[in-house]
Amino acid sequence: MTTETSSTAARPGRQENEALAERLGVLALSLRVGHTHELTPSCRRIELTGDELGAMEPLPGQDLMIALGEEGARPCRRRYTIRHFDRAACQVDLDIALHGDGPGIRWAMASEPGLPVEAVGPRGKISLDPEATWHLFVGDDAFAPAALAMAEAVPDDQSVLLAIEIDGAGHEQPEEIHAPVVGPRWVHRGQGSPSDPARLLEAVASLPLPDGPGHAYVGGEHHLVAALRDALVARGMAPDTVSFKSYWRLGRQNAVNGEPERT
Ligand SMILES: Cc1cc2nc3c(=O)[nH]c(=O)nc-3n(C[C@H](O)[C@H](O)[C@H](O)COP(=O)(O)OP(=O)(O)OC[C@H]3O[C@@H](n4cnc5c(N)ncnc54)[C@H](O)[C@@H]3O)c2cc1C
Repeated sequence: MTTETSSTAARPGRQENEALAERLGVLALSLRVGHTHELTPSCRRIELTGDELGAMEPLPGQDLMIALGEEGARPCRRRYTIRHFDRAACQVDLDIALHGDGPGIRWAMASEPGLPVEAVGPRGKISLDPEATWHLFVGDDAFAPAALAMAEAVPDDQSVLLAIEIDGAGHEQPEEIHAPVVGPRWVHRGQGSPSDPARLLEAVASLPLPDGPGHAYVGGEHHLVAALRDALVARGMAPDTVSFKSYWRLGRQNAVNGEPERT
């Protein structure tokens, strides 16, 4: 533990990350890429290790913000959801959807064992609603890690409703959800646009919403998320029971803070 910790201060980007982490009230994490592999043809799993992960206590659905060099004068960052966390092994798995061509995808494609990674986290305000007895997850493949991490944490006496858009057959991802699952789980995009909400709107419209308190979690492409959120509210869900997050925006680069521009 001493070796890793004592070498972190000298890492490029560490000082900026420490200042950012302090401002956000999270941890600065100097990590290394462990094993990487293709989970599906369009999703790359990257294992990150580092002793500092031993102090992290992420909630299901939270993410790490990864520093990816500079863009202009500012550090460029992208956010990736913690798909699995193993505190004893000081390891997190990130699953990256391989679409588009930006700093995040280039980092994911170039990652190889031993590569240093500077991150801060855990980040993110959306996690399981403790008041809900059913949980609806809907979004695209960038949201799959958050949806699956949260769905796997739903107790088996509650229920999960799941509709995640992926490229097509052969792109389904492994999961270990304990609660009963209602819904298609995977919706195929085919040749359609990833910002066209039609397929997921149809999938959600055909889902019977169970009785009792429920919560919906929506994530993915900017326009897709807005349309799904509006549809769920129009269907009668109270706005404060629909948590939504825009992850990326078609045709536009995310800002250096890792978020899509709103305007
Ligand atoms: C809280 C949060 C959690 C996230 N968790 C994950 C996660 O676990 N896994 C994950 O894969 N992503 C996740 N994302 C999205 C991720 O942070 C990046 O937005 C994504 O990897 C693209 O980054 P980039 O730098 O390659 O592309 P950018 O520089 O942002 O964009 C470059 C170009 O690629 C296009 N593009 C970007 N993404 C896609 C896409 N999915 N399909 C088609 N075109 C695209 C853009 O429209 C743009 O034209 C999350 C985002 C947030 C805000």
